[in-house]
Amino acid sequence: MQKIQMTTPLVEMDGDEMTRIIWKMIKDDLLLPFIDLKTEYYDLGLKKRDETDDQITIDSAEATKKYGVAVKCATITPNAARVEEYNLKKMYKSPNATIRAALDGTVFRAPILVKGIDPYVRTWKKPITMARHAYGDVYKNAEIRVPGAGTAEIVFKGENGEEIRKTIHKFTGPGIIQGIHNTDKSIEGFARSCFEYALSVKQDLWFSVKDTISKTYDTNFKEIFQKLYDTEYKAKFDEIGTTYFYTLIDDAVARVMRSEGGFVWALKNYDGDVMSDMMATSFGSLAMMTSILVSPAGYFEYEAAHGTVQRHYYKHLKGEKTSTNSVATIFAWTGALRKRGELDGNKELMEFADKLDEATLETIESGKMTGDLALITRIPDVQKLGTEEFILAIRENLEKKLSV
Ligand code: NAP
Ligand code: MG
Repeated sequence: MQKIQMTTPLVEMDGDEMTRIIWKMIKDDLLLPFIDLKTEYYDLGLKKRDETDDQITIDSAEATKKYGVAVKCATITPNAARVEEYNLKKMYKSPNATIRAALDGTVFRAPILVKGIDPYVRTWKKPITMARHAYGDVYKNAEIRVPGAGTAEIVFKGENGEEIRKTIHKFTGPGIIQGIHNTDKSIEGFARSCFEYALSVKQDLWFSVKDTISKTYDTNFKEIFQKLYDTEYKAKFDEIGTTYFYTLIDDAVARVMRSEGGFVWALKNYDGDVMSDMMATSFGSLAMMTSILVSPAGYFEYEAAHGTVQRHYYKHLKGEKTSTNSVATIFAWTGALRKRGELDGNKELMEFADKLDEATLETIESGKMTGDLALITRIPDVQKLGTEEFILAIRENLEKKLSV
């Protein structure tokens, strides 16, 4: 078989521990035999980050701006224990935070649905992707514990000397106050990432805030989204037959629960924090969830939502058999390859990504899966496979698909 050719490289960000082991298996068993894989390789493994004073992470983010598409392995975010374990020069920032800051992106979390592993909500037939605004609101607040009677005010002092002042509350006894903020620039970047992502997956975009109560703050979010849609995105949505849908957050929650899924749901920082944990749990497993960073400029970085699976890695180091789920990491690769194919007009590469996705899901549906899924599936008589055994079972299915 002729290998599939690539015209433009994608940025490959290698990582740590068990996911680094899986990374190599995926490349060796599922990609390199079939694709003339072109990547610009960045080793974000902790050792290399330490050697380069974390410059490698910054370089990988810059490369993503150059090429537009990246795929990332899970990486260790150092804490005190890791500083000791790896004898680090310092406690580096999370690579994800560094990359997100460089690309100014929004993270989308999408579950991978497979027959036999059911979401807890019976009506959900298609994935619901969540987008959380990752700046401001209560996450950057100023709070005061009010000791007793007095007046609380909110004041803005402009650089031109302008002053705006409002009374929050006249306290007759102790209480609490909180000041929060956001910026039009950040909200617009968030909105743009959401529209770009929804277009790229050809799904409707939902957005919801509490504008009936928060008539200035939340209404500002709503207006920025609406204006951007009307002026820049409506025509593009119309063209592919999708739509932008705003509704009050209470209404959105009710509609999400009785929907079939198959849309992107954008939420403010706090709402997204709370709802994404609910969503991940309701879809079954963190090992079946991908995470996609989309920048307002249209750069895409794909990864698994889970971490480096440290506990399995130590078993692996001791020579014990592991059964670590590689699905989210495989889907990170296929997501990136499909996007690369789309941008380069490389149909073969896109079809390969689709076939690898199908082969992966069909392997599970045929009863062959890793231990985490074997515990929660309703498929009878499952075969619990080891880490590489599972990947090799996928390869068998993939080869059948590629030869037809
Ligand atoms: P984790 O790697 O997500 O693993 C937590 C537990 O979830 C595992 O012990 C395992 O449960 C289960 N699990 C997660 N992924 C699995 C998979 N693919 N297959 C099977 N089971 C899976 O979280 P962690 O142990 O808290 O964190 C380990 C390291 O990952 C930390 O250093 C953290 O900084 C890093 N991290 C990185 C990212 C990222 O790069 N995006 C995200 C989160 C965490 P059992 O042990 O019960 O089998
Ligand atoms: Mg949370």
